[in-house]
Amino acid sequence: MERRKTRTIKIGNVSVGSDAPVSVQSMTSAVTEDTASTVRQIKELESYNCEIVRVAVNTAEAAKSLKDIIKRARVPIVADIHFDHKLALASLEAGASGLRINPGNIGDKRKVKEVATACKAHGVPIRIGVNSGSLEKGILGKHAGDFAAAMVESGLKHIKLLEGEGFYDIKISLKSTDVLTTVRGYELLAKEIDYPFHIGITEAGTAFSGAIKSGIGLGILLYEGLGDTLRVSLSDDPVMEVIAGYNILRNMGLRRGGVRLISCPTCARTEIDVAYMAKRLEKVSAKIKSDIKVAIMGCVVNGPGESMHADVGIAGGKGKSVLFSKGKIIGKYDNKEILQALIAEIESITGEKIDYS
Ligand code: SF4
Repeated sequence: MERRKTRTIKIGNVSVGSDAPVSVQSMTSAVTEDTASTVRQIKELESYNCEIVRVAVNTAEAAKSLKDIIKRARVPIVADIHFDHKLALASLEAGASGLRINPGNIGDKRKVKEVATACKAHGVPIRIGVNSGSLEKGILGKHAGDFAAAMVESGLKHIKLLEGEGFYDIKISLKSTDVLTTVRGYELLAKEIDYPFHIGITEAGTAFSGAIKSGIGLGILLYEGLGDTLRVSLSDDPVMEVIAGYNILRNMGLRRGGVRLISCPTCARTEIDVAYMAKRLEKVSAKIKSDIKVAIMGCVVNGPGESMHADVGIAGGKGKSVLFSKGKIIGKYDNKEILQALIAEIESITGEKIDYS
């Protein structure tokens, strides 16, 4: 896979562009005016290695809270603004590391100029976020209902407004709820500009169906070298978006780190509760940073082979199961104790503590 060559921008200390790793971001769902809840959510996202967090700034009160939120956050915070350029200016004063705002929606040229000038002064980039659900009137009709082409035209229009003010510190997203429309939109846009892409499938759905949808869409885009930062948008805890994001990047070979789990689908030969063990391990090991391959296999048919090729693995047996580490058998444990023995071995190999909270 060859990444598309783009300009590189900086969201706080995180570089976004062709030479930087594809970063993972999410968005808080707490009410921004509620500083304590928003900070709590950001801290939780940080503990799962979320690299950029977006916060909606929809009222003057939210902009006031933002200052305190940013002071307490370790990750760069992007302020998400719709329509009101004053909120954009207030967010910059509050210390936002990025703005998500569509210049075409904030009113006259004077307001666009004001925001661009303030962003330049603060060294803060802007993400233009085109969404198929909120395209400007007329654009869709002009493209005979072709959402991908309409999103591209909309994105280019917003970019032109910023470039007209001498502002080039830009990234852009074109998100549709439809996977193939989103893919085509980015493919078309890649031919036109060299600004980095924030990729995602918008309003993708629940953790299960949304992760599948995002995995397909983002997988295709990343395979084509398109995408410099991503958000998996789910109707769930924002932490799930981060877990899903890293999973996609790991499976595309674009990021390393974390537990790569192999678990068998089980069959009539299964001797242990593979589904429970795999789910439990996935949950408690989600914050592990080291790159480690773990196998949980139900019996001795494929169990020893897969476990031997993993860093650590279980091959289920009648009453007792075998634990492998680095290709060798290191013990035989009662089936009630094998998961704990596996976890202890993961802690020993990685030097990291499993988080049971
Ligand atoms: S590893 Fe064993 S239990 Fe699991 S699916 Fe294969 S044969 Fe069935």
